[in-house]
Amino acid sequence: MPTKSAGVETAARAGAWRPGSAKIDVGILGATGAVGQQFIALLANHPWFRVTWLAASERSAGKRYGDLAWRLPTDLPEETARLSVEALKAGTGPQLVFSALDSSIAGEAEVEFAQAGHIVVSNSRNHRMDTLVPLLIPEVNPEHLGLLPLQRKTKGWSGAIVTNPNCAAMPLAIVLAALRTYQPKRVLITTLQGLSGAGYPGVASLDATANVIPFIDGEEQKIETETRKILGRLVADSVEFHPVTVSATSTRVPVINGHTESVSVEFEKSVTHEEILAAFHEFSGEPQKLELPSAPQPAIVYHNAANRPQPRLDVERGGGMVTHVGRLRACPVLSHKFVLLSHNTIRGAAGAAILNAELMAAKNILG
Ligand code: NAP
Repeated sequence: MPTKSAGVETAARAGAWRPGSAKIDVGILGATGAVGQQFIALLANHPWFRVTWLAASERSAGKRYGDLAWRLPTDLPEETARLSVEALKAGTGPQLVFSALDSSIAGEAEVEFAQAGHIVVSNSRNHRMDTLVPLLIPEVNPEHLGLLPLQRKTKGWSGAIVTNPNCAAMPLAIVLAALRTYQPKRVLITTLQGLSGAGYPGVASLDATANVIPFIDGEEQKIETETRKILGRLVADSVEFHPVTVSATSTRVPVINGHTESVSVEFEKSVTHEEILAAFHEFSGEPQKLELPSAPQPAIVYHNAANRPQPRLDVERGGGMVTHVGRLRACPVLSHKFVLLSHNTIRGAAGAAILNAELMAAKNILG
């Protein structure tokens, strides 16, 4: 059985961590990869969660984490450096596990962990489109957590799986949610995706340097389908997909962190430039209302300068959790167009999963 933390009940019942509450123990599956390291960095000094268990492949298992290569510009916390990397074995480690596993292994491994009673908060693509698995953005569709009782009953798991979206689908879904009142109908999106989106070691340097690669396997389909599920309505234990049609082109560019996206949208309802700006400005959701520790305040930042947002200047702002928008203008083909920027390993991966777990803790869903 996974180990339960005394803090789970306390933090969840209170709706927020309180001084004196024990922290919730968490494990990380795939702790050695690009997203796994980002989890460790973001969870250092987290007010509710404490990393106590790490797992990765047989290549890393048995090694002291601090003896492996650390590739982030922040310090590796000493208490994490001391941990030994475990092999993937469901039923060991804490009840709450974040998954940053490679998708070749995540599908099967996450089910084994959920069957063994773990709550798996995952980044991987494998279960995102499962009709019983929430594809969660706390600002956009917190009600999708309502799938969990049916998930548990139908699949017979004592644990659960909750996923966050693809890193390029994330900012698009957030801005379309902000504009939901105007009923987005058709979307054209071209992405310029940073290299860290391909994991470590990722794209070969001779392919990536001073180049644009006009193809990322599977990415366009994820943007086109996940967006519709995220914006969908929870109706009688299932998600009714949003009718928006999305057409995506994905490219890889020589940027380390940050996905930039050029987006054109057509709406069912007429909307003015000022109304769109106001919708971006006013957008917020449960994370902001509940003041969850990882909630960006504000969720969306609109940049007035014509040459922003830029990955190098903007992507780390707001702890990497902000969705940046700029260059709003009329689109002669659809209705309006703009540029998006989001941090792929934070808002698009580890930070997204941590925010999901914070929402679950605040809603008393952990434990
Ligand atoms: P990565 O750098 O390649 O890391 C993959 C992790 O999976 C490593 O910890 C690796 O352990 C582990 N792993 C690989 N094969 C395994 C096996 N057979 N058994 C156990 N563990 C195994 O990839 P990443 O970029 O961090 O991505 C992790 C997941 O998040 C992927 O599913 C990816 O699609 C998703 N994601 C990534 C991003 C992003 O921006 N990078 C954004 C959103 C979602 P070893 O080091 O021991 O090999």
